[in-house]
Order: sequence, then C-alpha cells, then structure tokens
Amino acid sequence: MEDSERVLRRDKAVRAAVEQGLLGPDAPIVGLLDVTGIRGSAAALHRAFEAVAAPGTRMLHAFAVKANPLVPVVRLLAGEGIGAEVASAGELALARAAGVPVERTVFDAPAKTEAELREALALGVAVNADNPQELRRIDALTGSAETRSPLGIRVNPQIGAGSIGATSTATATSKFGVGLRDEGAREWVVRAFAERPWLTRLHAHIGSQGISLSLLARGVAETYALAEEINARIGRRQIDTLDIGGGLSVNLASEATEPTYAQYARLLAEAVPGLFDGRYGLVTEFGRSLLARHGTVVARVEYAKSSGGRRIAVTHAGVQVAARTVYVPGAWPLRIAGYDDKGRPKEGPAVVQDVAGPACFSGDLLAEGRALPALEQGDHAAALDTGAYYFGTHYSYNSLARPGVYGFAPDGAGGVAFAVVREPQTVAEIVADSGGAHADALTTLGAPGSR
Ligand SMILES: *Cc1c(COP(=O)(O)O)cnc(C)c1O
Repeated sequence: MEDSERVLRRDKAVRAAVEQGLLGPDAPIVGLLDVTGIRGSAAALHRAFEAVAAPGTRMLHAFAVKANPLVPVVRLLAGEGIGAEVASAGELALARAAGVPVERTVFDAPAKTEAELREALALGVAVNADNPQELRRIDALTGSAETRSPLGIRVNPQIGAGSIGATSTATATSKFGVGLRDEGAREWVVRAFAERPWLTRLHAHIGSQGISLSLLARGVAETYALAEEINARIGRRQIDTLDIGGGLSVNLASEATEPTYAQYARLLAEAVPGLFDGRYGLVTEFGRSLLARHGTVVARVEYAKSSGGRRIAVTHAGVQVAARTVYVPGAWPLRIAGYDDKGRPKEGPAVVQDVAGPACFSGDLLAEGRALPALEQGDHAAALDTGAYYFGTHYSYNSLARPGVYGFAPDGAGGVAFAVVREPQTVAEIVADSGGAHADALTTLGAPGSR
C-alpha cells in the first residue's frame, strides 16, 4: 500500500518535473526527493522503537548525514524528531546549519583530528572514541576543560561480514572501533571505563547494506552484553546509553519495503530484551533506510544508438551520481525506470539495452544489458532508490556538474510542488572549484620576483 503510493508519487513527480521545466534539454539531469516519503520513514522509525521500548526510555534516532548530506534534508528530518550522526567537520557544520541541536548530534569518525575533537567537546556533541589513541586525546582535552559531551567508545564485535565487503564494519580486521576479540582488547575496554567515570556510552555499527537482520541483532546483543559486564564489574550503571548504529538494508530489487524498522525492532526485542527495559538510553544511526527509497535521479536520453548489436541509451546519469554502481555494479545494481519525453511511464515491449552515463570511460553504465521498454532520444531514464549515497554524494569525474536537487510534495490542488534543495552547479562554479582563482599558480611558482 505505502509502497505503491510511493511509486504513484514518483511517477507524478517525474511528469511534473518535465512539465515545469526542471528537467529538459538544458537541464538534462535532476535529483528528486519525496518529502512525503521521507516523513513517512521517519515516523515509521519512531513507531517501531516506541512499540518495543519501555515507556520513558530515552531514545535518539540520529540520521547518518553521509547518506544524504544536504542541509534541507537534515532539517526536514530534524523537524520529524531525528538528530544527526556526523563523521567530519563538514558534516558537523551541515548538521548545525540545518539546526540540529548539539544534544541530538553524535560525532563518530575514524580519523577525528584534535581540532575536531576540541570543537565537538566545546559544543557538547556526543563523541564515540574509535581507538585507544583517540581516547588518550580525549583524556588530554577533557583533563583541561569541562565538557557536556556524552562520551563513549566504539567497539567492533568482530562477528563477520555481510554480503558486501566494503560496507561490512564488523569483520576481524575492520578499520573501525576496538576489535573485541583481539587479544586483551575486551579487558582494555573494561579498564578504560573503570578508569574514566565520565565514559557513559558504548557504540557499535555493524555495517551497511548487505548485513542481515540477524547479523545486526547479534552485533547489538554482543554490545549489550559487554555493557552489562562493564557495569557489573564497575559496580554501578556507568554505561547509561547504547548506540546501536544504523545499517538496515534496503531491498534494491523491488519496491517492497523489506526488512522494515518494525521487523528489526521486534527482532532486537526478542534477541536482546534488556535493551528495551528502560535501563539504557538508546541511540540509532540509520542512513540508507531513511532516505534511499525517497530519491530518484532522472536523466534525459541524449542519444539512442546501437553498437555491436547492443542498444545503448546514452543518458546524463552516470558515475558522477552513481559512483558505487558504476564501479562495482555487481554489489550495487540499480533499478531503472523508463519515462517518455513527457515524463510518462514508458510503455512497450522490453528490449535488452545498456543505460549509459555521460562520462568518458566505457564502464560508465547505470545498467548493462537490462530489459526495459526501448529508450529513445528525448525519453528519460530514472535511477530508483538513489536518495541515499547517490546524487547527494557527487563525484566530479569529467568535471560533470552536480545536478540540481528538488524536493517534491503535493501542492494542495492535485498537482506537485517543488522546492530547490540544491541548485544545479554552474560551469563557472566548476571552474572556481577547480583552482580557477589560481590559474597562474604553477607557471609563476619559483619565478624571480614571485616571493
Ligand atoms: C554509515 C554509518 C551509519 C549509517 O549506515 P546506514 O547503512 O546508511 O544505515 C551509521 N553509523 C555509522 C558509524 C556509519 O559509519
């Protein structure tokens, strides 16, 4: 029901984007965001965890900003009661620009600089230390100044990988957190807490896309068990909050929402009942599952051609908006929907074709050998489920411009209203971002009189 309504909203938005000229010969690619859908996912997340947690359980759902680092998106979510998980000075600044309160912001990153840590502690943002050296830096900083920041340690339960190596973070040799099964590591974590009464959180993020619900739940169970052990050994409830990360996969093969937040929350409640009995505050950090479904890249077919007997639709969406899919197509396939020149769903018999991007390398394909109604010049190809980790995360290969991003919602009169989320990048901006102000920097370097 919700899934089919989402498809109807998307079809209507593509049509309206063409009619309203957001998409056309001079704007051959856009990113569209379904505001209704984003709100719906935020509400589903709240409902799922409220349904299993004891009344009054402290809960913060923080959006993993890297999944869609656009200020209006983060603000929309903030308005729906969602905080921010940030992993760089840039993401922290975006969250602040979006108005996310510091007490609803969590700073996790594997390579936090001393300056970044100092800023986070001065603001009072929650910080999870990744490793012993980082904890010593925090020691030095908190030793010299008071902070309101809740502080924790990120651990890696080392329970293994999901189906995609690059997004599995709980492998034996993952670069994230303190590997609990390494010799002496568990003892080190217990001592780290015992020696620092101000350390009150334990954090684990098991991975992202391709991690099964049961693997996610095992990771949470191990984290919970460690917190219980630490509190028992210290003799008081020093760890008062568990940050269980994000990582719920999105079914990229069809429109069906599966797994759901409700399924995950129920599984956690079965597998780790103590998690929800109110003794621990909870933090989650979902990214993909909040946004992926609600974004669509729509690109014009500039040319339709054939080569070696293969039909090829040459579009404006390729590696710049879908780097993962283009470089690792086996792990990150995208569904493609065809629309005609007026933005109506493309009908007709399915024909095997490549949907190619604009970049100058032959692997720049959104889809290879895909059976779709034949895409013709002036039609549109839509890359579905690209609201997380795709068009928000531009890759400037071939100096291809960042496409404009528009949010859409019903206009109250049966039509579709759009709002600019990010302006399309101009050619002048590309030059400026590419050292345009320093054109002579290298030719005059070291020349007499240049110092
Ligand atoms: C990327 C990341 C997330 C979000 O993962 P999703 O799969 O998008 O839900 C959460 N926490 C941390 C620490 C991350 O690195």
